[in-house]
Amino acid sequence: MLRVFGAAAVLAAGVIAPAGLPGAPALAAPQGVVANDARLAGDRERTRFIADLSKKVDVHVYALGNPYRVIVDAADVHFQMPRGIGKKQRGLVTAFRYGLFAPGKSRIVLDVRGPFLIDKYFVLEPRDDQPARLVVDLVPTDEKTFADKLGKAKEARTKASAVPLPQAPKRPANAKPIVVLDPGHGGVDPGASSANGVAEKGVVLKFGKRLKEKLLATGRYEVYMTREDDTFLPLKERVAIAQKKGAGLFLSIHADYFPAEIDDARGATVYTLSEQASDAEARALAAKENFSDAIAGVELPEESDEVVANILIDLAQRETKNRSVVFARSIVGELAAKGTLHDKRLRSAGFRVLKAPDVPSVLLELGFLSNADDEKQLTSEAWRDRMATSVTAAIDGYFNKRIARSPF
Ligand SMILES: [Zn+2]
Repeated sequence: MLRVFGAAAVLAAGVIAPAGLPGAPALAAPQGVVANDARLAGDRERTRFIADLSKKVDVHVYALGNPYRVIVDAADVHFQMPRGIGKKQRGLVTAFRYGLFAPGKSRIVLDVRGPFLIDKYFVLEPRDDQPARLVVDLVPTDEKTFADKLGKAKEARTKASAVPLPQAPKRPANAKPIVVLDPGHGGVDPGASSANGVAEKGVVLKFGKRLKEKLLATGRYEVYMTREDDTFLPLKERVAIAQKKGAGLFLSIHADYFPAEIDDARGATVYTLSEQASDAEARALAAKENFSDAIAGVELPEESDEVVANILIDLAQRETKNRSVVFARSIVGELAAKGTLHDKRLRSAGFRVLKAPDVPSVLLELGFLSNADDEKQLTSEAWRDRMATSVTAAIDGYFNKRIARSPF
């Protein structure tokens, strides 16, 4: 995660690293900087991004490729932007988004339509009745120039060592099973959003918290969440949390979206990991969910590293996959009795977040934000409570079977 912060050269002198983040170049932020508006100006020859700030703040601005993006990082900027902002394209920029990238680290991500150069960027002090302003100017370039610049910038950035998956701690045989709940997206990555602007990241966080309460109330489990607030978390770190905790079960929680004119789908769907997707929609969904890191501006590993890692993981994963399917069926069974299920209730695809080699992992899509009835449910306290009760029963059912068949 730290590798996204680049060369210290761009940082102002005299900046102090925040406690607990050794090695991370810090960005000085006056207390309580608020970004309350942003806009695009210009055309495809020169596009300007402008954000209004309550105070001047140090920023770190850099480009990423595949897909083309501009990343603006700053410490502790609070976003109070007008609703729905960032969806209109102008010039080279097709969209932008913002939010927490990690605790105390704020980020703006601009999506760019093609190869570009960051011509300049600066932050202006407030003046007269003008707020402080962040300005980023982009100009188009050719693919080769973009790639050359990107390569050089990447070299200059601190090389992150490959993060080995942590070993699970040894626990006594009679210890409570550990369940890790993973509300998807967060912070700079809002996930899907409904026509009314209800964001997936909020829906799944609320559900995750309710489910945690229900699970703790049984007294049978230790329960952890990958995130408990509106902060982004890369997919790999979500997997690492499950590994590190020695989880007996990992449940990633999402809410899907399909344009209604394509498919007015509704109801919950349960997904497990597979190399070959069960169907085209499942493959498309996995691609969408796997894109979370790109949305948030995480630099992805080189393709070759990823392929090798996948082979190693596959060898260890067969038993875990079987258990994942048992758990997935348990959820489907509970929801079939008490909830709304999608027609194709149990599906599989290559979800990166389900790749912990020895933790049975399932991804639950609670429903479709694109469907008005589902949206009503997803935002209803009563529904959330019922759904959490059903999923708790499914988790109980899974562990009851495991205990009956032990040793595991
Ligand atoms: Zn999602």
